[in-house]
Order: sequence, then C-alpha cells, then structure tokens
Amino acid sequence: MSNPDRELNRQKYERIIRTCLCACLLFTVIIYVYGQFFVKNKSLYASESELYDVVWTYTGTDGVSRQYRTNEGFSVKDVDDVVLTTTLPDEIGDGNCLFILTGKDLDAYIDGELRNSYKLSYAPFGKNVKGVWIPITLRRTDAGKELKIVRPNYWLDDFYPGKVYLGNRLGFAMRLIHDNIMILFLGFAIITFGTVITIICLIQRIREKRVFPLWYLSLGVLGSAIWLILDNFTYPLFFRNYFVDGICAYLVIMMIPFPFLSYINSIVENRYHRVYYFLSILIIADFVILTFLDFADIADFTDTMLFSNILAGVVALYCVGIMEYDTYVKGHRENSLITGGFAAFAVLCIAEIIHLNLPVHTNDGAFVAAGLLILLIVAVNQEVRRISDLRAETLEAQKANQAKTTFLANMSHEIRTPINAILGMDELILREDTDEKVHEYASNIKSAGTALLEIISDVLDFSKIEQGRMDIINDEYETNVLINNIITMMSVKADEKGLDFIKDISHELPSKMIGDEKRLREVVINLLGNAVKYTPKGSVSFAVSSDAIDDDHVQLLISVKDTGIGIKESDKDKLFERFERLDHSRTASIEGTGLGLAITSNLVRIMNGTIECNSTYGSGTEFKVVLPQTVTDATPIGDILSGALTSNMDDEGHEELADLSGVKILVVDDSKMNLKVAAGLLGVLKADVETCKSGAEMLDLITKTKYDVILLDHMMPQMDGIETLQKSRTHPGNINADTPYIALTANAIAGAREMYIENGFSDYLSKPMKIEELSGVIRANLKHI
Ligand code: ADP
Repeated sequence: MSNPDRELNRQKYERIIRTCLCACLLFTVIIYVYGQFFVKNKSLYASESELYDVVWTYTGTDGVSRQYRTNEGFSVKDVDDVVLTTTLPDEIGDGNCLFILTGKDLDAYIDGELRNSYKLSYAPFGKNVKGVWIPITLRRTDAGKELKIVRPNYWLDDFYPGKVYLGNRLGFAMRLIHDNIMILFLGFAIITFGTVITIICLIQRIREKRVFPLWYLSLGVLGSAIWLILDNFTYPLFFRNYFVDGICAYLVIMMIPFPFLSYINSIVENRYHRVYYFLSILIIADFVILTFLDFADIADFTDTMLFSNILAGVVALYCVGIMEYDTYVKGHRENSLITGGFAAFAVLCIAEIIHLNLPVHTNDGAFVAAGLLILLIVAVNQEVRRISDLRAETLEAQKANQAKTTFLANMSHEIRTPINAILGMDELILREDTDEKVHEYASNIKSAGTALLEIISDVLDFSKIEQGRMDIINDEYETNVLINNIITMMSVKADEKGLDFIKDISHELPSKMIGDEKRLREVVINLLGNAVKYTPKGSVSFAVSSDAIDDDHVQLLISVKDTGIGIKESDKDKLFERFERLDHSRTASIEGTGLGLAITSNLVRIMNGTIECNSTYGSGTEFKVVLPQTVTDATPIGDILSGALTSNMDDEGHEELADLSGVKILVVDDSKMNLKVAAGLLGVLKADVETCKSGAEMLDLITKTKYDVILLDHMMPQMDGIETLQKSRTHPGNINADTPYIALTANAIAGAREMYIENGFSDYLSKPMKIEELSGVIRANLKHI
C-alpha cells in the first residue's frame, strides 16, 4: 500500500474510534439525566428526616396560653425569656433528634430535665450571631412528654417559631446538603476557578513585576465564594469550629468590596483615584470599627451589619456606575465587555434579593454565585485578549527595534569608511609642514572627525549589544600596561581642563590577569571621560584596588570620582538608559549622545561585574565598578605611577612612531581614497609603499616583488581579502609565502583578531587607520624594527 493510502486508512480508523467513544459518552449522559430527573424514585435518606409540624404553646404575660405553628408570629412584649412548650410525638425511633434553627441562646428541657443548651457566649471572638441547626437528642421514653424551649427575647417585639425537623442526624445532614447543593456546587466551582486564576496572576506578578487587574477580581470572587460557603447552613458539616466560621464570614463580607473596587480602579487606569481612595478608607474604617465593637462585646455584627451593607451597596453602585460612565460617556470602549459583565452581575444580585424574599427559598446566594462566575469568565476573557494584543504589539515593537538596530549598525559601518578617508587625509595635511592657518583648520577637522568617529563607534557598539553580538574576549593582560595607558590618555584631558588628576593605584594589584583588556579600558575611559566632561573645576580621582576571591581570582575594584556638577536624585534611575542625557540646563553645552553609560553598564554586566553610582547634586559623583578577573601572575605590581608616561610614548603621551625606512609594503584595497590615505600615512613612516586595487592584482604582484608586509583589505568586490590570502598560499611563483599579511577592516567586530588569525593573517588593523596603530602593528609584525 502506498503512503497516501496508508494515511487515508489511518484517518478512517481514527474517525471510527472517535465516533464510538462519543456514542458511549452520550449514552452515559442520557442514562444519567433520565435516571435522575425522569424515573420516579425517592432519595435514600428522604424518610430519615421530615419536617415536623409542631404546635407550640406560649403563655403570655396575661396568663392566657395560645397555640402557634411554624412562622406564625406573636407578640412577646415585656418579657426577658420566651418559653415555648410542645408535646413530643407518641412514638420516637432510635437515634431520633429534633432539629431547631437558632441564632440566639437556647435551653431545651424534656419533662423538666435540661437536655441541650446553646450559648452564643461560647464564641471566642465576640458573640456568634449566625443561625445554626441545634439537634435535641430524643430517647424512646421521651414519647408523649413535654418539650420546653427557653430563648431570650429578641429586640424585635414579635417572635416567629421557625421550622423544626424530626429524624436522625444522617438524614438531616443529607437534607442540608440537598437544600444547599446549588450554592455548594457553585461555591466550590468558583473557589477552584478563582484559585487557579489567583495563582496565575501571582506567578505573573512575580515574573513580570506588575499587577494584573484580574488579580484583584479573582481575590474578590474568591472571597465571595468563601463567604458563600461559610454563610450557608451546611458549614457545621464541613468545618470544625463553627463559631470561628461564623465570625470569619462577617470579616470576609466586610472586606469583599475592596478587591472589586481595586479591580474597577485598575480597569479604569486610576482615572478616578480620589473616589477610590475615599471608599477604600471607608471600607477599612468599617472593618476596624465593627470588628472592635463585636470583639469587645459592645455591639454584635448582626446589630451593626447594616452599615457594612450600606457601604457595600454604595461601592457596588459606584463600580457599576463608573464603568458605565467611563465606557459610554468617556468613550473607553475597550472595557465594554467587562461593563456588560458587571451589569449581568448586578441583575443577578437583584434576582437574589427577590429570591430571598420568596416565602420558600433554598440555595440562598446561588444567583450571586452565578453572577460572580459570569463576571470572572468575562474578566478572564478580557485579560486574555489584552495579553494577546500586548504580545502582538511587543512582537511588532521587537521587529521595529531589530530593524532600527540593523539600520544603525549598517549606517555606522558605512559612515566609518568615508571618515577613514577624511581623517587619513587630514593626518597627511597635519604631518606636512604647512602654514599655521592650514594647520589650525586641519586640527579642527581632526577633533571634529574624531568626535564623530567616537559617536559612530558608540552607536555600533550599542547596536551590537542590542543584537546580543557583543562578545567578550578574555585574554591575559599586564595590569601596569593597562593602567598606565589609561592614565596617560586621561592625564592629557584632565590637564587640558585644568583639573587635578588624583591617582590611587594599589601596589598589591596582581601583575597579570585574564579579562577583556579592550572592554575594560573602554569602561574606565568612559567613566573618566565623563568625570572630566562634567567637572568644571576641582579634581578627578581614579582608584584601582583588588579583593581576593580565592587563589586564582580577584574582584577588581575601580572607583572614578569627581567634584563636578553631580546628578539629581530624581535622574539617577535614568542614568544607565540609552540616549538619556540628564539635567539639560547644565549639560546641553557639553558634547554627548547619552550612550556612554548605557554601553558601559552593559559591558560591565556582560563581564559579570557590577556598577553603581553615588552622587550629590552640585558637589560630585563617584562611579564604582567591581569586575571579577582571573589572576595569572599574582606578583604585586608595586608603585607603577613613577614609571608612567614612559615606554614608546612621546611628550604628548603618543606612542613614538616607527621608522620604516627600507621596509617594502604592499597595500591592497578597492577604494582609491583608502589607498591614498594608507600610502600617505606609510609615507610619513618613511616606508617604501606600493598599492594595488584588487586581489587578482595582488596575486600577480606577489610573484614579482618580495614585500616585508602586505596590508590586505577584507571587503573587496569579486575576491575578498580572505579568499585572496587563501589563493596566494597555493599561487604558483609566490615569493611572499612567509610575508606577514595584515587585514584591513572597517567593521571591527568582537573576535576579529581570532577570526583573521584563523584565516591566516598575522594581525588586523581597523579603519579609519590611525598612524600610531599602523606604526604599532607593523612594528609588532616586523620584529627587526
Ligand atoms: P553622554 O555623556 O554622552 O551624554 P553618558 O551615557 O555617558 O552620555 O551619560 C549620561 C548622562 O549622565 C550625561 O548626559 C550626564 O547628564 C550624566 N553624567 C554621566 N556622568 C556624569 C558625571 N560624572 N557627573 C555628572 N553627570 C554625569
């Protein structure tokens, strides 16, 4: 059988199995519905407890005895206790009880003997005033005897004997469950649903560090469901200490308006926060005062509950009203679904009130529960929609950000090439002995060009960080070289501005460590550069020390401190954000892009370090960087400051240029301008230069002339630098097989050196070419100079 046929067959079998399973399920449902609702059969426990049509006798203050049945009210003026009597049935089964509903103290006597006593004062936290079914256990011998119950008088003037059940405890328990099944079912369903949503919101809250509106609603709905469970008459069946349940039901109901109010407040995005605060304070005050009154036995919850009810009503009206107003008057249509949910909830609450006022009602609270469930479903739906919209927006924004980053990276790369030419040519002008005016113009071009190049490099660096392409290249470096280099560079800048440059370099620093020297230098120079930039007078201090972690690792502690303009407390949060420049009135005249610290902090983070800033506005700033480094030579560096500004440095802190007289160098680049710049700069170094414009030309030249160094551009049309070099290896007649090849690149990405060395180059030079670098790299590759 062919593959498609087999697939069709498989689908056919799957369909048959699925249809059979559905038929089985349907059959089960039909049997259940028919058996439960259409087949006449009494419940197992129905005969175990029955409503007992009791006739109570009450003797009034006038001495006349009258008889009353269930729910027949009578006046009980001027007495402390209400005493009712009745005659027990002629036959009493084993284990039978009378079940009487009471919300007050009750004493039950049979033939004058006290059989059961229930006191509200048993409650540990104030009086429990919630109704409860009290069982009065009967004996066979009680048949036909007199039952007397004594209750305190209600503050109302009328007394209504309530329903009484006769039967055994199991039968009565089943009756309670049966009468309240809807509310129990809905209550537990809401608790489960609400708990799941609350947990999801909690996880989101921890992960995303923001509160979802749904969090409040789920808490409110959960609270309401707990209240529904606590408040119906089955609670003694489920809970151990029913007095606590009774009190807790009141405590919960007083708090419930708050989460709903908070939910609405977050849905309308805090637009009406004054009313929100006012109502919240009222809810808290209501809770505290009423609880105190009850616990201190001054006023029971039943007596004071009216205030809570009024407050809950006001909050409910406000919630529904403000949603309607905000959605339809203020035009925030995005909330119309939730407004509809609240309206449905309100309608069901009204239905509940009507239901509670019917002569016979069970499952009290079921309408409210259904309303809560609808509200929660609607709110979840709204939240899910909001989250998926947000996701789509985030994706869109990420795409846009990615496009921007790529654009920036490309642009800065493109700009670097012409700047290379400008700066190179300018360098040539500066090196030629021209008149003073021309020299001044050329100097201006150099400083503006260098500033532009720094900005472009920052943008390039930043886009690399954003794209996650900023790699850290850890290699061994000499601590004194790194620090001396930094000090040499920065001394000149501090000097130019007339600032004291205070150096405090610990003598105990290890001599050699492993880390990314280039990035480390970038971090420190950025901070020192800022310190100089933002300090009009006074000093800039640079301190380096180390803390040993173990034998092989240290924390490098770097501090850069200035006596400059400082940073406002309110600006500190924005300090490390990209493109953020602070305190515009004072920094507008100072050059900067607001990228430096963003790059610095990211570099420190990538190198597993930390950076912090302490600043006092108006008096100065200190940046502290802590970076872990691996020690390869723990010998203390000693006092390196005395030796600074030496080794290959001239008076201005520039490295002395190499003298390349007699050195034959070939430069290969497709750009005419770049060739001119390279030739010019090498000319300054007195080298003997030859140029060519393509890889193919080079392959020809290397068979004719022996060069000491070949500078080979990477990006060239047709045959790029790497390919050219590879071809040269097998090129017949090549007399330059052992010549060092140095790659020229405009895009100095992380790991560039490794990449070029792997491809057979001896080193690389990044464009725009600087004469010092050119001289340094050639010097390093021509050991005899
Ligand atoms: P830039 O210096 O290019 O504006 P940075 O990211 O390096 O960008 O710095 C961001 C902002 O932080 C600066 O614009 C400046 O307002 C403030 N800032 C940085 N360093 C200091 C400092 N040492 N003293 C005062 N303000 C500083």
